[in-house]
Amino acid sequence: MQKPKGTYDVLPRESKKWQYLEDVFRSVCSYYNFKEIRTPIFERTEIFHRSSGEESDIVKKETYTFTDRGKRSMTLRPEGTASTVRAFVENKLYVDSLPQKVYYYGPMFRYERPQAGRYRQFTQFGVEAFGAESPLLDAEVISMAYHIYSILGFDQLVVKVNTLGDQDSRDNYRNALVDYLTPQKEYLCNDCKERIDTNPLRVLDCKIDSFDSPPNMSEYRTEKAQKFFDGMLEYLDALGIPYEVDETLVRGLDYYNHTVFELQATIEGFGSQNTLCGGGRYNGLVKEFGGPDIPGIGFAFGVDRTLLALEAAGIKLSKPEYINCYVATFPETRVEGARLVDALRLSGFITEMSHEEKSLKAQLKQADKMNAEIILILGEEEFNNEEIIVKHQGEQINVKLENIIDYLDSLNLGEINE
Ligand code: AMP
Repeated sequence: MQKPKGTYDVLPRESKKWQYLEDVFRSVCSYYNFKEIRTPIFERTEIFHRSSGEESDIVKKETYTFTDRGKRSMTLRPEGTASTVRAFVENKLYVDSLPQKVYYYGPMFRYERPQAGRYRQFTQFGVEAFGAESPLLDAEVISMAYHIYSILGFDQLVVKVNTLGDQDSRDNYRNALVDYLTPQKEYLCNDCKERIDTNPLRVLDCKIDSFDSPPNMSEYRTEKAQKFFDGMLEYLDALGIPYEVDETLVRGLDYYNHTVFELQATIEGFGSQNTLCGGGRYNGLVKEFGGPDIPGIGFAFGVDRTLLALEAAGIKLSKPEYINCYVATFPETRVEGARLVDALRLSGFITEMSHEEKSLKAQLKQADKMNAEIILILGEEEFNNEEIIVKHQGEQINVKLENIIDYLDSLNLGEINE
């Protein structure tokens, strides 16, 4: 029995790292006043066709789509924005005060060619902010993504930003790009041959083809779009976020306009899957989903890929495995031992005892293996005296059973592992 291709198990010894990352995401979200939204793992298929675009790779090649028993076409979500926008419109969240700032965390599904950092089930953490068409919001969202990495102690990354401009800028550039690409069509990969007609901007994002000097996006930008972008860069400067403007950055999905950005790992030898986080503005998408014309911007983090990058950079996320207390017993005191273990756990101490009868030596060995900070030995004689032996940092004393919790409290257990 094996897991499906492109998936992975998070094993007990690794799950702490995931929980730690999740904690960092959640706390940064709370500082920036983003609140969690949880949407279904599957949606009606058209939701994703509407948002990503019929011609996007996601829709054309990567969705896990199935017909349910009611003969409806359903799709496992390949990304979080479409479901969030659907929920925003369906639940009329726009009647509350704007901007509405939400975040999500969970599994996404894409039928991609698996490799290091690219999976068929992967985990994304993402944010969406609806309702302010201000370059300040774009800068705020980029700064939030950047600061998550700084809090994690990771600085081997570059923030790349670009603007696709407004609709007029996009149309102008699209025409120029088609004129540039058409004469070289026969040399392009099969996908790009098609993209010239369906979504020429995506040609710039191709992993196979590369281009000498494609038309420069900035020359086709309207004045208004340029002003918005300059305003955003000014805020980024003011917030002290280092960035690079990359005129060729377009991003894979159809719904972006104005600001697009990526956070890329710059660790040597990290490999091609180095985009840790990507996002952009999607004015028009809420309207496309039947809501009012409310602008939006968001990003999605690859959690799996971020963990790989942190590991490659040598950043340790989890403390060594340990427990606070190990209770060793004798056959005569096992039942009392079990009651003590329960009482300690309910007082907040991570506590274990042996589930099988073992010699004291074997129990001490097990305590050592579990990295127990403290060992409590419940001998029959001590128990009859209502006492217990406490072994801590090489010292051994007897403590009255009724005082044991207060005594353990006074030791500040757990702190040595901080
Ligand atoms: P996207 O939703 O395509 O903009 O991707 C946002 C981020 O999600 C990327 O920067 C990656 O970190 C991550 N990501 C996207 N696809 C995958 C995948 N198949 N496996 C792992 N991470 C992914």
